[in-house]
Amino acid sequence: MKVTVDAGICAGFSVCLGVCPEVFELHEDGYAVVRVVEVPPEHEDAVRQAVSQCPSNAIALDEDAG
Ligand code: SF4
Repeated sequence: MKVTVDAGICAGFSVCLGVCPEVFELHEDGYAVVRVVEVPPEHEDAVRQAVSQCPSNAIALDEDAG
C-alpha cells in the first residue's frame, strides 16, 4: 500500500497525524507529509482511517502498490 498527501489540498487539520503519527507528520509550512510512502502492514488500518477522516480528502491511497 502506498500513500501520498496532496500538499495543495491539505489544510493542516492534523487529523491524520492524530490517527497515525508513524506515517504522517506536519511540515513546518503547515501541511501534512508522509514519512514513509510504503505503508508498513501494521499501520494500514490506521492509514485507511486517516483517509476516511481527512476533512479535505487530501490523502490518496494506492491499495495495490507495494
Ligand atoms: S487530515 Fe488531511 S487536511 Fe488534515 S493534515 Fe492530514 S492530510 Fe492535511
